[in-house]
Formats: sequence, C-alpha cells, structure tokens
Amino acid sequence: MGALLITGGTVYTADVDESVHARGAVLVLDDRIAAVGPADEVGRAADALDPAVRAGLRTVDASRMMVLPGFVNAHWHEMFAMGFTMRGALRPVSDRADQVAFMGGGGDMHQISATFDRFDQLIEAMTPDEARAIAEYSMWTQLRGGVTTLGDMGSLNRPRSMVAAALSLGMRFSASTWASDAVCPPDGSRFVRTRDADTVLAGFESLLGEVAADTTGRIRCRPNVSYVTNMTDELARGMAGLVARHDLPFATHVGALRNEAEVMRTYYGETGLRRLAEHGLVESRLMAGHAAFLDEREQKLMLAAQAHISHSPGKYGPSGESALTETGVVPALRRAGLDVSLSTDAAALPGAGIAETMRAAWQMYNEMSADQTEVLPTDALAMGTRIAARGLRWDDAVGSLEPGKQADLLLVRTDDWRYLLNPRPLESFLWLAGSADVHTVIVGGRALVEDGRGVGIDETALRGRYLEALAGFTRRVLRVPAEAVDRVLGQVAR
Ligand SMILES: [Zn+2]
Repeated sequence: MGALLITGGTVYTADVDESVHARGAVLVLDDRIAAVGPADEVGRAADALDPAVRAGLRTVDASRMMVLPGFVNAHWHEMFAMGFTMRGALRPVSDRADQVAFMGGGGDMHQISATFDRFDQLIEAMTPDEARAIAEYSMWTQLRGGVTTLGDMGSLNRPRSMVAAALSLGMRFSASTWASDAVCPPDGSRFVRTRDADTVLAGFESLLGEVAADTTGRIRCRPNVSYVTNMTDELARGMAGLVARHDLPFATHVGALRNEAEVMRTYYGETGLRRLAEHGLVESRLMAGHAAFLDEREQKLMLAAQAHISHSPGKYGPSGESALTETGVVPALRRAGLDVSLSTDAAALPGAGIAETMRAAWQMYNEMSADQTEVLPTDALAMGTRIAARGLRWDDAVGSLEPGKQADLLLVRTDDWRYLLNPRPLESFLWLAGSADVHTVIVGGRALVEDGRGVGIDETALRGRYLEALAGFTRRVLRVPAEAVDRVLGQVAR
C-alpha cells in the first residue's frame, strides 16, 4: 500500500487530549499511522522518508475537508433479514395507525423474550448464502456511514457468513454468536429453559477457534448474551468461565427497559445486573448495552467494576425507548467517570448511524443538564471512536489517530454552506451533516469508500443479492405470502 499523506484538513485525532489540528495532516505507511499533527510538521516527516518510499508517496489535498478516526460501532446487531417484518417494508405508507409496541411503553418483556428465543431457529433456517448476502449489504450501510470497526452483540445472522462479509468488504469486525437459553413466557412465574447452555457456549468457542486463524488482523471475537431475560444461571456461569479462560471482553443488554427489573425478579428472583454480578460478569470487561434502568446499588456495582456502557440515543425515540432521559442514569454514570460509548444498536432498515447518534448525544445530554459543555462535539466523537474501541478492547489498534495505530480514518468535505465561517467543522457536521456525507473511508490504509461510492464494490449487485436473499428468507422462513413480497419488490424495481 506504500505511503499516503493526507494534508491540509482539520484533523480531529480523538486522542486522550481530544487534539485538533486546524491545518493538520496524517502520514500513513502501509496500514499504520506514521505521523499526525500540524501539516508542516507531518510534511517534514514525509520529506524524511526513505527515498524509495518517498518516490511512491501519494498525497491527498484535504484542505477542504476534515479528517476523523473511523467510527467504532461496538454494539450492533445484523437484523436486515427482518427488513419486511420488523417495522419494515410491509408497513403501510401512512404512519397514522402506528401504536406503542415491543420496545415502547417500557418494553413488552414477554414478547421481547419470546422474539429473542426464536432467533436460533431463524438463523438455522437461513442458508449460508442468504446470510452472506444479507450481512454484506447490512454491513455495507455501516461502512458507507463511516463505521470501520463493527462489534456484533448478537445478530439474526450466521457468524461465519458475517465474518466472510466483513472480510470481503474490508472492514473490521468483532464476531459473536446468538446466545439465549431461556424464555419468560406470559402468565408464568418462572423462566423456561429452551436450550442447553453448554451447547450455546460450545458454539461460541468453535467460532473463537476459527477466528484465531484469521491473518488479516481485522477479525476478532467477543461473546455476548442476547438479553438477561433469556439467560439461565448455567449460561451466565459458563460465560464467566469462558470470558476468564480466553481473557475476552463480554457484552450483554441489561437495564435496558423500564419493565425489565420486575420481570427479572419474578422469573429469576433477581434483577439482571445483580445476576450478572453474582456470576462475576460485572467487571472491567463488561460492555453493558443501555444500562439505564439501574438502581443505586447497581450503579455502584458498575462504577466499582469500571464496566462500560454502550448506548444508542439516536435510536431510542424512534423505537419508543426512554433509556436516556427517563432515568438520567447513563449521563450520571458518565459524569462519575464510567466509560460510556455510542452505538447504533439494531434496525431492520437503515437507521441512525454513528454520526446521527453523536448528534443525538450532543443535543440530548446537553439539554438534560442545561449545560452546553456536558458533551462537547469532540466528546461525542470520542464516544463514537476511542471510547467505543476501549469498550470493545480494540483500542490497541483503532479508535484514534495516533502514530502506531491502524490507519482507519474518514474524510468529510467541509466546503459548502453548512460549514461557512465555522472554525469548528465537527460542530457543523453534527448540526447539519450525517452518515451520507462521509466522503472517504480508509481501513488499514486502504480506501474502501471514495466520494461516497464503494471502491471496487458493485453496489447494484450487492443490493440485488440482498433483495433476492431477503425475499427468499421472508417467503420461506418468515412465511410472508409471496404476493406481498413480490409487491414490495415490484415497487423497488420501479
Ligand atoms: Zn442492542
């Protein structure tokens, strides 16, 4: 790949000091960052390169751009297989008959638990080719919006197909398996075991073994439990052993919804976070998804463990969740020093990307605290890059623009009306731009998106394969009548 000098742009490093260089530059050698800083300094480093390397130096004039680290989306679920049925294509065009459901109203816990319990059989019924085509399109939408590192926290897709898709697209991927072994049935008083915990754990260990053979450095592995409502003590205990044995990070959703604690006490005798703590899973390796509905004792457990929270304020309103404003717990824990990062969570159609999520955090945290410095634009950026990478335990290689780190970076044009006179282009980006405005995406020194288009990616073919796989899966497995599927596809064709 050789040497690449990106020079003249506003460079946001997202390093621990949140350094910004108004006329900055980044020097990339092969897959790594060799120098970053003021353009003249980095220029001198480029001049000092070995003449043979210098001869191949490519220079990008970024004077009308800003340079950001690649976004790290450490709490994501591949869900595009539900593109018809989960608030998807089969809905009427008018939204006037929409009602509170599923995650809304504090959460329909029985329906959520039952839906998650069904994922294993849906994944089983998906062919590897369907899974690959769906994953590749879904992950492409993330990459297009600037996500260079994606962390699976439980997907309706096949792990090996997702790994293949990530490798083919060129992005980084922390793989996982779907892990659920129980359900909370309605009108019951106790959970029902639906799978053997050892089988669930063995499924992850087998994936871990395969990922260990990866030679690209772009694939890692992190176990998760889909949701504490679907976790027996056996699964929690086994997961704690697995995490300790392999020294892995661990992720789960906990304290996500208002109605969760009561259901947990009824069906398991204890709240989700307390159960995780009993099994030794509340520790620095934990990434807790949402973690908003925590009582004081649970908040103390999180702080004492220096655990991590990944949450998704860009998605809450549209899904009827209130995990930011109803309790204010996450901003309070962040203020108390806990690592809090931003993520997109799940959607069956393209939803808020990391850019939109950064905007939501910037606006909502500050509104809640009547303090425009609570989350500065550079804080929001760090929450979507460096801090997220730390939560994923990938900060040894990605998350900020610093010498020695992987050259994962984004270029965004800053030369139109939205940026006029603003010395802080990141602020304008959060005000008025978003995922679609990411111009260039570079992963490990290699450009995967340029001028908003995939480099060497046939986007039409990618979309065609996705629609075909989605239609097949929706008809065959989700049992949606062929006429309904064909009607939607006909509209796409038009
Ligand atoms: Zn999630």
